[in-house]
Amino acid sequence: MKTILTGIRSNSVLTLGNYLGALLPMVRLANQHSGEYQVNIFVPDLHSIISDVDGDLQENIVRTIKYYLAAGLKINENVHIYRQSYVPAHSELCWILDCVATMGETSRMIQYKEKSKGQESCNVGIFNYPILMAADILLYDATYIPLGEDQFQHIELTRNLAMRFNHKFGEIFTVPAKTAEQVEFMGVPDGIRIRDLLNPEKKMSKSTVAENSKIMLDDEPEKAAKKIMSATTDSIGKIKFDMWGQPGISNLLQIEALITDVPLQDVISTWAGVTRYGDLKKKVAEGVSTMLEEFQTRLAEISNERVFELFESGEKYANEVAKAKLLEVQKAVQLR
Ligand code: ATP
Ligand code: MG
Repeated sequence: MKTILTGIRSNSVLTLGNYLGALLPMVRLANQHSGEYQVNIFVPDLHSIISDVDGDLQENIVRTIKYYLAAGLKINENVHIYRQSYVPAHSELCWILDCVATMGETSRMIQYKEKSKGQESCNVGIFNYPILMAADILLYDATYIPLGEDQFQHIELTRNLAMRFNHKFGEIFTVPAKTAEQVEFMGVPDGIRIRDLLNPEKKMSKSTVAENSKIMLDDEPEKAAKKIMSATTDSIGKIKFDMWGQPGISNLLQIEALITDVPLQDVISTWAGVTRYGDLKKKVAEGVSTMLEEFQTRLAEISNERVFELFESGEKYANEVAKAKLLEVQKAVQLR
């Protein structure tokens, strides 16, 4: 059975970008495929501490899993939910892969460049986390890793490390699918990249400081609607999908398509010829606030006990699989 694997850093409440770009597509895929694939959903808590944690990490971890459940994830015996730090093999494989990766390729990671930019001194974790991510994936021989577009470069790095390792030490790792195949599998042709509401040439990020740049999943629905209404657009006066020329408007069209589950092309056609941006903003604002209201109601109904029950069985499974893979690797590099 092939494996689908995904994780979302749980250092704070998530944004609408995380929800539409990562959570919801993953939940749809899991529900669709959990009969034919193993579905690993993990909380990358070791990745959380590469930057300051906003709030209580333990609470954030539990809440992240509740998000999946509130987004409609169905649990069956092929769906495994676990915390990264409860499976020590992740850290151990990371070190071994560190000894396979080069400074050159790791320094080229855009996320590293962006995250270290402007920082007087950048911690080594920020530099190293793509390698830990490769370990997260390769331990489980995962083929599909549904992620947002900003993470595609890390998938390519993981593929390169797996191929290099296999070439040197024997066929140990399953090489994950190429990003083009990942995207095809996810059913989102160009990847999903929700934009920052104030600076739409950038992606929406939970770590952005400006409150009005991002919609958080715990925002009051009314507040979220206001943020959409004050989103940056342009002065062109035409509702057209053009991420380069009109990123703000295109972002709204994208959000509308995703929250209504209508193909983007159809949403674009609906708004063609409309010149008043306010109409589009109002529609999107209403959609987002309704979506949040429903999501928050479902979230409140999920207990902590339910999440810990899932961790217990998921971590048992993950440790078994990961330990066996780690032993293969240790033997290959002559540590065992
Ligand atoms: P940070 O600022 O801490 O990096 P982030 O919002 O970029 O936060 P990540 O934890 O880096 O979130 O990513 C979690 C998942 O959400 C990843 O799969 C990532 O590709 C996806 N994602 C993040 N931002 C967006 C976005 N704006 N649009 C679509 N997907 C996104
Ligand atoms: Mg990010």
